[in-house]
Amino acid sequence: MQYYSLNRRSPNVSFKEAAVMGQAPDKGLYFPESLPQVEPDLIHYIETLPEAEIAFRVIRPYVGAAIPEEILFDIVSQTVNFPFPLQPVTDTIASLELFHGPTLAFKDVGARFMSRCLEYFLKDQRKEVTVLVATSGDTGGAVASGFYGVEGVNVVILYPKGRVSPVQEQQLTAMGKNITALEVAGSFDDCQRMVKQAFTDADIHARRFLTSANSINVARWLPQQFYYFFAYKQWKEKAIVPVVVVPSGNFGNICAGLLARATGLPLGHFIAACNANDVVPSFLQTEHWQPQKAVATLSNAMDVGDPSNFVRILELFDQQFLKLKEHLSAVSISDADTIATISRVYRETSYTLDPHGAVAYKALEDYQQAHPGSRGLILETAHPVKFPDAVKKATGTEVEIPASLLELMLQPKHTVEMPPDYAAFKEYLMHR
Ligand SMILES: *Cc1c(COP(=O)(O)O)cnc(C)c1O
Repeated sequence: MQYYSLNRRSPNVSFKEAAVMGQAPDKGLYFPESLPQVEPDLIHYIETLPEAEIAFRVIRPYVGAAIPEEILFDIVSQTVNFPFPLQPVTDTIASLELFHGPTLAFKDVGARFMSRCLEYFLKDQRKEVTVLVATSGDTGGAVASGFYGVEGVNVVILYPKGRVSPVQEQQLTAMGKNITALEVAGSFDDCQRMVKQAFTDADIHARRFLTSANSINVARWLPQQFYYFFAYKQWKEKAIVPVVVVPSGNFGNICAGLLARATGLPLGHFIAACNANDVVPSFLQTEHWQPQKAVATLSNAMDVGDPSNFVRILELFDQQFLKLKEHLSAVSISDADTIATISRVYRETSYTLDPHGAVAYKALEDYQQAHPGSRGLILETAHPVKFPDAVKKATGTEVEIPASLLELMLQPKHTVEMPPDYAAFKEYLMHR
């Protein structure tokens, strides 16, 4: 499989090059040159197939000759070695729980797959690779966990001091080894600016081989398709295709779902559930793309003011607005409705939603009001324990802390303090 840059001013590359470089030299996102159709057998027998087999068959055409099949099978087996249960919540709504991985949020799958691919691609290289990532919370933890102990790769994570939750901070800073957490005395935007500047700095490139682990990397984006196949596997009434609701921020996850459907997975209408950051809902109403400054909400992993993966969704629909609107809708849900939904769903069903899942749940309920008889599923992207304050406020009860997390919370924290200033960051990267 070859990948082209959506800016169309860079040469096409293989999966390997796309994964190692992250972004094309013209700053475009990579997109697969053709859409491989899902084998009819895979759909037909999906209920009998193990997760690793499904994942292998889904990703193989996208990887092509870049990784030998036995190794690719090992990589996906290690990537999806935890459960992805589809839990019924009501008669018409089910929740696909994507939070049973090591950092309790859905980004684990992408990060684990990407880290293992990079390990394979770089194993014969003499140079060490530095993965740079700025995080507002969940991404950093998933990347740290995914790359922990991977030979030849150093990970440097920048996070805004005092602005991530205690659990998130612990997931970034308790690792040590090849993972370094930089605690930046500034905002997430400062962290992101510093990372972006490093990528354009020739002095740093002369000294280190840099790559990025953010969600635009094809090796993080494409394996997210697995979730939708796992959901379909567990969907009981195959005659009624489910409406699929995805809590969305940077739009990588939902774009992977739309890709899965475009290549033959039988799913129904897609809904992007957003919080107050409503660039995409506005775009679908007005056809006008107006990036905003991100505003802080309870579903903080979706606080994105300029979703970078949306260009891939447009490409998937051949840049045709009407076609896009036929298959995808997008809604914005307030914090007040998020809390009210967690509270009501807990009372009526005893199911505990996290704020991201609650945004999706409310969006699905609203859709079902307008489309009686429809059935659907939400992607529950984070464990409620990652957002204990909001969940306690809504339900009146504490969320039980999983044992793995209790252990993590006892580990010592390792960070390097850093001012929000590029010169200091450069100094660190040049001389560490
Ligand atoms: C990252 C994240 C999202 C948003 O996913 P995108 O692919 O960026 O749209 C939603 N929920 C949680 C918990 C996340 O960590």
